[in-house]
Amino acid sequence: MGMQDVYHYWNGQWRKPAGSTTLPIHDPAKAVPIASLTIAEPVEVDAAVQAAHNAFLSWRRVPVTERVQPLFRLKAVLERDFEALARTITLECGKTLVESRGEIRRAIENVETACGMPYLLQSGFNESVAPGIDEFSIRQPIGVAALLCPFNFPGMIPFWFLPYAVAVGCGVVVKPSERVPLTMQMLMQLIQEAGFPPGVINVINGGRDVSDQLIAHPLVRSISFVGSSAAARDVYAKAAQHGKRVQCQGGAKNPVVILPDADIDTATAVIADSAFGCAGQRCLAASLAILVGDARKPFGDSLREAAATRKTGNGFEDVQMGPVISGTSQSRISSLLESASAHLTVDGRKDVPAEGYFLRPSILEHLDESDPLLRTEIFGPVLTLIEKPSIEDALAFVNSGAYGNMACLFTRSGDSARRFRTEAEVGNVGINVGVAAPMSFFPFSGARESFFGDLHGQGLDAVRFFTNEKVVVERWPKEWSRKF
Ligand code: NAD
Repeated sequence: MGMQDVYHYWNGQWRKPAGSTTLPIHDPAKAVPIASLTIAEPVEVDAAVQAAHNAFLSWRRVPVTERVQPLFRLKAVLERDFEALARTITLECGKTLVESRGEIRRAIENVETACGMPYLLQSGFNESVAPGIDEFSIRQPIGVAALLCPFNFPGMIPFWFLPYAVAVGCGVVVKPSERVPLTMQMLMQLIQEAGFPPGVINVINGGRDVSDQLIAHPLVRSISFVGSSAAARDVYAKAAQHGKRVQCQGGAKNPVVILPDADIDTATAVIADSAFGCAGQRCLAASLAILVGDARKPFGDSLREAAATRKTGNGFEDVQMGPVISGTSQSRISSLLESASAHLTVDGRKDVPAEGYFLRPSILEHLDESDPLLRTEIFGPVLTLIEKPSIEDALAFVNSGAYGNMACLFTRSGDSARRFRTEAEVGNVGINVGVAAPMSFFPFSGARESFFGDLHGQGLDAVRFFTNEKVVVERWPKEWSRKF
């Protein structure tokens, strides 16, 4: 694969970057550069926002039944180029092809859900709230929506927002992660082929500075952010300062609680997939396994075994786990492991492939309850085992962390499951499920430090986020007088 240029795209055309600050894009499995990204200049960011705004002014007047037609075509071209998209994700992000295919499938599901916008956009109508008076509400597009995306799902995460924003009539500017711009570049080619009017969807490349220009731009009306909690909090504050509508999905430290009655083979396989899938770089990755009572010995053994035998290598080959995203990430995770080396019962720093940013799965055990590692998002293939005497103690631990993205329970007991789903203070709950990722017609939830805002991505939450609700009170009296 030769070096690829990364372009911006606005008003229906690819734009050769004008800037001079470049960043190399690497194939993480080989640690070789495959592309070069140029950070957008402020004038380019402005041009993309202006294009989105101008397009919005006419797009919002297009009937919703027509606005969804390019989404139907987009679904068809995404299906046609499904495999090429999955390969692009694996190339720049490192995850296995199976994982990349799963990611594109969820992106397509969001397009499918947004195709129902004529129905999703309906709102309330009360006839005769008083004599001759009807009252109803209309949902209208908010304006230009900016999407600020993380590196770990370059194909899926823009689609938690984009299909809904365009179907309700917004203009969109996407800023992909500066570490993985190639997938969005390919998606943009397909979006172009699907035939959206020029300017409705635009892509601008860069990092934090470009985010900040989008957040501050007066024509940008909403900010959808997904990334680490520190950045999410920062974006939330900056967006609020500029009076923007904002939704910020943050980081996570997800616990899975294992009761002694859980099925050992399926639970082990599912938890290992959750902890080590996507090399642990998933906001719904299990990173703490809480072994309750007698689950300690059998599940400790089976999880150690699953970690030690997981096949790691280039995501294009027949493996279960690819590399982490960068050399920086690899060293950061390695040094966290080094700081706890006495607690490593499976050490993933050993026997890694010679080239690329690889780590194998690691297991940490017997950390002190006050150890900050129990609360740190490692964002790598590391699972920490802890022991608790009862489900009450496990739930107390689940609810004591700062994050609230996901918590899962493995059991055969309906009673315990019901209690867990009621009491766990998180946005996404899994019962005998290791990655509780909501389908596109549910919101992708999140709580506490894992989410700042009110309305999430996907489904009806996204429809509400990208629209203003206008309430109309209308009187048609029998005769023109003030009398009712
Ligand atoms: P990141 O926070 O480094 O970057 C995310 C995006 O925001 C990038 O486009 C980046 O350029 C931009 N950015 C970074 N700092 C910024 C700032 N201070 N102001 C404005 N923009 C800024 O995240 P990442 O490393 O790309 O992604 C991994 C993180 O994302 C993990 O913490 C993971 O848990 C989280 N994540 C969360 C979810 C979720 O739904 N909760 C989903 C996926 C990933």
